[in-house]
Amino acid sequence: MNLGALRSHNTALVLDLLRTAGPSGISRLELAERTGLTPQAVSKITARLRLDGLVAEAGRRASTGGKPRTVLRLVPEAGHAVGLHLDRDELTAVLCDLTGAVVAERRAPLDLGAGADTVVEGAAREVEALSGSPLALPGGSPLALLGVGVALPGPLDHTRGVLHRVTGFPEWSGFPLRDVLARRLGTAVVVDKDTNAAALDVAVRGAGPSASFACLHLGTGLGAGLVLGGTVHRGARTGAGEFGHQVVQLDGPPCECGNRGCVEALCLAAVDRGDVAGAARVLGVAAANLVALLDIDVLLLGGRTVAAHEEEFVRGVGAVIEERARREGADRAVPVRVAPGGARGVAEGAAQLLLAPLFGRGDG
Ligand SMILES: [Zn+2]
Repeated sequence: MNLGALRSHNTALVLDLLRTAGPSGISRLELAERTGLTPQAVSKITARLRLDGLVAEAGRRASTGGKPRTVLRLVPEAGHAVGLHLDRDELTAVLCDLTGAVVAERRAPLDLGAGADTVVEGAAREVEALSGSPLALPGGSPLALLGVGVALPGPLDHTRGVLHRVTGFPEWSGFPLRDVLARRLGTAVVVDKDTNAAALDVAVRGAGPSASFACLHLGTGLGAGLVLGGTVHRGARTGAGEFGHQVVQLDGPPCECGNRGCVEALCLAAVDRGDVAGAARVLGVAAANLVALLDIDVLLLGGRTVAAHEEEFVRGVGAVIEERARREGADRAVPVRVAPGGARGVAEGAAQLLLAPLFGRGDG
């Protein structure tokens, strides 16, 4: 079996329907109806997926008139991916099956400033402890372990897996994390921003295939993951979503990035002095700019700092957006909610960097 064939558009459509049907399964006829493919094409695709161990029979279901139909289901344990979230001070690693369900998890303290060699070696050991060393899972199929998705603070080059200058950690600038980790682990590695991973997780799990939303992530930094028309929007140089360093006060306090009055600096300074309402107001002003620019369906708030004051942030950001919508005469303001997924959302989204493309979801 090769990954190229699996990734064909029609196969991805069939796999995504099998995934969303869950353990109760779906018949070939329903697959044909819902994909618009001919029953012959569906039979050909499902025969190959069964041969590869990705699909199994889930019993028979009575049908009107004719003989009972065989129902098929996805085999979740036929493939796995590791999601690795490297935060500034903590590492989270999850092992996910094909449906994205977490089957094992590890957490460890991390000093992102400890130097590339130390961080890469520590991360590699956690991945090996999670999935067994050397990296292999029972079954022997090339799909058994799809690879490792790594999510960490940006900016970075997603296509090449090379880090740019992470605010506060200049020593990482230019480091080829994807290639170094892939060589160390002997498996495929995909690198993306923590914000994009969080947004991908939401896109794959709950959001409709054409949903447009923004995940604002406020932890020790501030960034945005954007999903436009069901796809993570990364931009031409994969630099989209650098939300935190927009200037909202021209003569504001200096920011580590070199500008003055960045929303990240103002927001975190307000949190530090205990003024959560003030931080939410500043975040709301920047969020309202984003909503006006992109006309999205919903705004999601996540990250550690939001998690510590969920109600105040949702209320404060929502109030600014509602006020602006009212002034503009809009029928209704864009809703503001806490991002689903919680503390593990970024790590699970990192695993989806490998899983989602199989189902044609959220990512190219
Ligand atoms: Zn800045």
